This record gives sequence, C-alpha cells and structure tokens, in this order.
Amino acid sequence: MVKAIVGACWGDEGKGKITDMLADTSDIVVRFQGGANAGHTIINKYGKFALHQLPSGVFHENIINVVGNGVALSVENLVSEIDEIVSRGVPMPKIVVSDRCQIVMPYHKDLDRLEEERLSDRAFGSTKSGIAPFYSDKYAKLGFQVSELFDEKDSLMKKIHHVLEVKNTMFTSLYNQKPLIADEVFEVLMTYKEQLTPYVADTFELLYEAIQQNKSILLEGQLGSLKDTDHGIYPMVTSSSTLAGFGTIGAGIAPYEITEVITVVKAYSSAVGAGEFISEIFGEAADLLRKNGGDGGEYGATTGRPRRMGWLDIVASRYGCRLQGATSIAFTVLDALSYLDEIPVCVAYELDGVRIDSFPATSKLKHCKPIFEILPGWKEDIRGITDYSKLPDNAKKYIEFAEKQIGVPITLISNGPAREDIIKK
Ligand code: GDP
Ligand code: MG
Repeated sequence: MVKAIVGACWGDEGKGKITDMLADTSDIVVRFQGGANAGHTIINKYGKFALHQLPSGVFHENIINVVGNGVALSVENLVSEIDEIVSRGVPMPKIVVSDRCQIVMPYHKDLDRLEEERLSDRAFGSTKSGIAPFYSDKYAKLGFQVSELFDEKDSLMKKIHHVLEVKNTMFTSLYNQKPLIADEVFEVLMTYKEQLTPYVADTFELLYEAIQQNKSILLEGQLGSLKDTDHGIYPMVTSSSTLAGFGTIGAGIAPYEITEVITVVKAYSSAVGAGEFISEIFGEAADLLRKNGGDGGEYGATTGRPRRMGWLDIVASRYGCRLQGATSIAFTVLDALSYLDEIPVCVAYELDGVRIDSFPATSKLKHCKPIFEILPGWKEDIRGITDYSKLPDNAKKYIEFAEKQIGVPITLISNGPAREDIIKK
C-alpha cells in the first residue's frame, strides 16, 4: 500500500511532523522530488531536528528511507544530516539512494547564487541550494546520475568535458567568473562516489518488490501544490513537481498503487520567497501570527528567514487539495490561532469586480483580492487535547468550516509540534 503525504499550499504546512508520526506504521519512507532547499521540522524523543535531504523515516530503526530518483541529491547535506542525527543519539538509519538519482553539483549552487545576484531586484528569492540550475541541467541532459559515478574514468571524463563546454560558457561570459576545471570536477565526483557507495541501490526494484510483498510505503512530498512547476504560481515555483502524482515518476511506482493522499493544510497560511499570496497580511497582525505560529514562530527551517504570513486561504487550499488528489486532510498548527478573538478566512477572490472561487493562473491571480469571512475564535489553550469532542466549540466550527469549504474530510488535527499532539477525527 502506498500513501503520499503532501502539502496543499506553499509548503511548511507541517508535513515533516505528520510523516514522522505516520512513519511508525510504515516499512519504507520515500522522498521523490525536491532537494535540500526546504526543511521539515521534526520533534521526537531524540530532540528537535530540521531535515532537508533525509526522508522523515530516519528516526525509526526498522524503516528503509529511500532517496528516490526524482530528488535533487546534495551529497554534502546527506552526509552531514546523517552525521548530525547519529551524533545526537539516533540509531544509524537505513538509507538507500537511487542509482538513477542525480547530483546537485557545487557549481549548481554557484550558478543559483550568481543568477540571483544578476537578477538583483528581479530575484526569485531562491534558497541558493542550486535546485533550479540542477533541474535545468537534468532536463538538458547535462546532469550527473549517481550510476555515472561508477563509470570508467574515460567515459566519465568525456561527460565532464561535454558538460563543462556549456557550464563554462555561462561562468565566463554571463557571470564573469573563472571557468571550472575538469579534473577538479572529477575529484569532487570521486569524493561523492566514496560517500554514496554504502547507500546506492536500484530503488525501483526495491520498491517494486516491496509493493509485491504488500509493504506499507510512505511518499513524502516537499513544499506544496502552489510551488508545483506546472500548476503553481509560475514563475515563482520550484523546479520539480510537488504533487503526489509525481511520486509515480520520482519514486518509480505505478500510479494506481498510490491509494491514499494525505494532504497537509495549515490552519493559517505562510509562504517563503516571492510570489502570489492573496490572503497575505502585513504589519502588526502578521507579526503576531508569525510569533504565535509553528513551533517558536514561523521562520524558515533552512534559511531562518521570517515567513510571509496570511489567513487560511480556502480557494488556494481547495485547489491545492484537488491537484494532489487529496483523500484526506491533516489540518495542522490549529493551536497557534488560540490567541485570536476573531479569525478571518479567505473564502473567495475578487477578480475585476467579480467574485470567483477557483484559483486562476498567475496573470489573473495577480489581480485577485481576498474576500474574508470572519469566524469567532476560541481563546483557550487547546494543546494537550487528544479527543475531538473536547475541543472548544469554536475550534470545532473552524475545522468543520474548513472541511466543508475545501470539500475533503479532515481526519487528523495537529494541535502542537510534538508527535503526540494529534487528534484523530
Ligand atoms: P514542513 O516543511 O511541511 O514539514 O513544515 P515545517 O517543518 O517547515 O514547518 C512547520 C512548523 O510547524 C515546524 O516548526 C513544526 O515543528 C511546527 N508544527 C507542526 N505541526 C504543528 C502544530 O500542530 N502546532 C504547532 N504549534 N506547531 C506545529
Ligand atoms: Mg518546511
């Protein structure tokens, strides 16, 4: 059985926590897209961790953690995150890296940074992890697949020269930098080879066999629907598909095997980087929500930068859930709203004076304004509650309002950052 856990909006909905929680009953956790450019925060008996590259099953000794072929693999991040968790007392996890996965090269990070500098005030707000240059190279067939590290030296050197013809034109002509040296690139690849050797495997076979044996597999998404390259707020999107459907490609699984899509929706909104965000709020109200949000405030798990804040956006969440093919919703960080007398919810957009409830493409989205409905707050601490019926009436009303408007059952409610802060509905 294959379940996916994915985000409905801009990311940072709390997928890491839900994955860590549901991993308990899984045999395999798979990352199928994205790279180390976004973080999952996980709090468990070992402490608080921000994972960027590792799948969220690494805290469970019995779980196989797969870095799927669709991932942008930073070998540095992989190695340093393994070192970090092990040094903090987590038993060495089982990790398997797809031999078809491609590698984020040091020059991808340089290109990411140089391009953001070149763009200046037109910059995308990239985390400069090299993700866009990495995926561009992958689709331009200028990427290095893990399997290629094990090629004969001659053929790998030929490939390096082939790639550097293009890369060095960019470095010298567009960015005024020194060219890359083939031998140095080769050395970097050999270091990666040594570091990856214990983990590399044919993960397609591994997952195929696991499915035959009825193992329970969790696909772990990064970011959320609105950052999907095709369906998101283009061009302020990420460079890989963030949708559960892409799990079939990024992990190598038959589409009909994904039978459950748990889509994580946060009880309010946050976003990192530039791009359309219709229910965004500013000033004091935003500062308060940011301070109360997440675990100790809404600040990036990778970059530490303050996240942009806004109210729950039904239009975006409904679209995001439909894109994912959500079979249920995990509704998270509800406890963060306990300080509010009244809670605005964006229920529709106004576009050129007309009320709409679908999520349009960017050129129209730019002109949308939020239409809010105000719900009453509950003004009491709801952390520690584990029984749905014990929630204050106004908290239940808020949840049921969201459920009805989005049109997907909310089956999990998260009311605190820890693994046990969860209500099953
Ligand atoms: P992800 O990228 O979707 O995994 O989410 P992040 O980890 O980037 O951001 C979610 C933040 O909210 C983290 O700091 C979590 O520890 C925290 N968090 C997750 N669920 C809850 C919750 O129910 N309540 C509170 N207060 N914080 C939560
Ligand atoms: Mg995150």
